[in-house]
Amino acid sequence: MVKVTVFDRIQNEKLDMIKFVLEGVSLEFANAFRRIVLSEVPVMAIDEVIFLENDSPLFDEIIAHRLGLIPLTTDLKNYNMRHECSCGGVGCTLCQVELTCSVKADLDGHIVRSGDLQSTDPAVKPVNENIVIAKLQKNSSLVFEAFARLGEGRDHAKYQPAQIGFGYYPDVKIDFLKCSDCPNQCIAAQRCPEDIIDFSKGKAQLVKDYWQACTLCEECARNCPQEAITVQDKPNNYIFTIESTGSISIKEIVEKAMIVFKEIFSEFLEHLKNKELFPL
Ligand SMILES: [Zn+2]
Repeated sequence: MVKVTVFDRIQNEKLDMIKFVLEGVSLEFANAFRRIVLSEVPVMAIDEVIFLENDSPLFDEIIAHRLGLIPLTTDLKNYNMRHECSCGGVGCTLCQVELTCSVKADLDGHIVRSGDLQSTDPAVKPVNENIVIAKLQKNSSLVFEAFARLGEGRDHAKYQPAQIGFGYYPDVKIDFLKCSDCPNQCIAAQRCPEDIIDFSKGKAQLVKDYWQACTLCEECARNCPQEAITVQDKPNNYIFTIESTGSISIKEIVEKAMIVFKEIFSEFLEHLKNKELFPL
């Protein structure tokens, strides 16, 4: 049975992050989920830039690349992927958003930031207004038009909606019967870089929620002279961390990943029903 236990959640203006334990799935499933989030959950990113004036010391290409990497808030419900749009991919208000920037520096060292981008849709704008685009000298200008479109992480990393990773769930055991022969110190506790073993009461004990800190380095087991410690990973248990770029919420990321999952399987099922795979 699949079980999800959230043990850390931060959601504020600066950070949207979740940590949870996913139980009862195979390593392959856990990794498929991670890869679908990274490569098939679409978000908006700047995809085309038309430069009208660029007096900055940076080439147009460098600024265009920087613009592409600015996370944009994304409205998944009201925009189509360009190749699926009724416009046939030419570009319309249903599949792209225009962002313009027109800055003339009054002083030396004027910094053009993501907050200087003016979007035609208030729902699609930079997640953070302080991302540096370029630095201008007095009386120099930076003027451009940019187009943001939906895209997927498999095409470019700028479309990845989040950082996502998972690790094995640590299962550390201490055999206290073997501990009794030890002198008045615990070398294993001293060697653990994450301090998951507490020896302050004269007995080696695992600290509360040690599994959140343990990195499975096995330093404790290797340095225990009594060989009293075993370190393993719990089968089919994985600790996930997802941190959104701010383009879409973690809830939307997970929901969309599951929709993609379902679509893949129903398409496969459809082929089965049509007897393409097993004609007889
Ligand atoms: Zn369109």
